Amino acid sequence: MGEKMASNKRKRNTVKRKINIGNLLLVTAVPLVLILLLFNRLRPQVRLIGEETMTVEFGDTFTDPGATAKARGTLIPFISKKIDVRADGNVDTMALGEYAVTYTAEYKEHKATAVRKVNVVDTTPPNIELTADPEGYTLPGHAYEEEGFTAVDLCDGDITDKVVSEEKDGVVKYTVTDASGNTAETERKIVYDDRKGPEIELDGGSEMIVYNGSAFTDSYTAVDDLDGDVTSQVKAEGKVNTSENGDYTITYTVKDSYGNETKETRTVHVITRPADADTDIDKSKIIYLTFDDGPGMYTDKLLDILDKYNVKVTFFTTSGYSNYLSCMTREAQAGHTVAVHSASHNYEQIYANEDAYWADFNLQNDRIEEYTGSRTTLFRFPGGSSNTVSANYNTGIMSRLVDQAAEKGYKYFDWNVSSGDAGGTTDTEQVFQNVIKGVTANSEAGYSSIVLQHDIKEFSVNAVEKIIKWGDENGYIFLPLSPSSPGAHHGVNN
Ligand SMILES: [Zn+2]
Repeated sequence: MGEKMASNKRKRNTVKRKINIGNLLLVTAVPLVLILLLFNRLRPQVRLIGEETMTVEFGDTFTDPGATAKARGTLIPFISKKIDVRADGNVDTMALGEYAVTYTAEYKEHKATAVRKVNVVDTTPPNIELTADPEGYTLPGHAYEEEGFTAVDLCDGDITDKVVSEEKDGVVKYTVTDASGNTAETERKIVYDDRKGPEIELDGGSEMIVYNGSAFTDSYTAVDDLDGDVTSQVKAEGKVNTSENGDYTITYTVKDSYGNETKETRTVHVITRPADADTDIDKSKIIYLTFDDGPGMYTDKLLDILDKYNVKVTFFTTSGYSNYLSCMTREAQAGHTVAVHSASHNYEQIYANEDAYWADFNLQNDRIEEYTGSRTTLFRFPGGSSNTVSANYNTGIMSRLVDQAAEKGYKYFDWNVSSGDAGGTTDTEQVFQNVIKGVTANSEAGYSSIVLQHDIKEFSVNAVEKIIKWGDENGYIFLPLSPSSPGAHHGVNN
């Protein structure tokens, strides 16, 4: 019984102590809160929305996520109020670099800032565009021939000149790197093929004249862009009977290793030698090329061109260049007509009187005989039969010489196409133009053409190949002058 009473007494004491602590707390907390409230101050504070450092691609739009600001209690942080925030700083996404945007908030006399870094960067590689010819191809075993490309970078602009290309195993690889180090790569697969047949070149041209009774030697070459020389594979079909006048056609065919076939034809006109008659040909389609004042230093070059096309012409020769007189031998052997122009070509001397003229004429004919083995009855007056310069030395001499030539059985030739190479021009193309213009006009009027050129003038000799090709393409034939050819006489003026 005594133990129970003691225990109840202890319980009462504990309750009494608890009440005392509660009172104490109440007594101390209230003044504390009052103090906190009394000394709490609001200060501005800025907080960024989003990342502190942002990255924007060059050319993209930069959208500022912004910032928030509050005036917040220094002692009691949960006491706050929203305030305005201002953003300063420009971000130019068209210029690479590092930019800063500063956010500022003010509250009373206090200010707070926060800074965001914005990096404008270029991570986009350039764009390479390849140009390709839809018909284009590369011959097997040959290097690729560039068809073209462009490279454009958003940031650097046109950087085509920085493209590096490399051909390997049938592929061309193109690489380009922009200023920010972004690399673009693209490839082109090379198309290997051969779509072109061999080229056949017919020596003597597609129209050839062979004189009745002489030999016809068919000569040609064929070259393929891939296979090289394929002359031995050319099939030539057709026969030429040189003992019977007529037109003969030879057809040439050849294939390359890709099966591309080329076909060419040649017409061989077998005619009676013009010395006997050049009358069985349409006159308006005949061109007589004539060359005065040589032989000289360009005569051999001219003879090479004439050989190549099997064209026969006429040389009105002089003895002006003694080192080249032997060209007359080659002229005659090749079937050209070698005729007299003048030994001295000195107007004052040869037109002094008739004796002087024929002495000079005979001297040149001696030379012709010396180098060709035979004399000629064909000639051209220096200055042409219509010249008036002779009147300075002897009035009426041209009229008398013309009559005497006929009595002696000589035939002189003037010309009806002037190439202009005697002073009108020094231009090869102009010579060509003058000749084809003159020939065309004669042809339309139904005449043959006697063309005047000078084989001592290189620019004029250089026009001959083009004249021959033009003549071949337009159905003309080239003949040397003979006693039966037209004289194209100008008319005598002295
Ligand atoms: Zn002359």
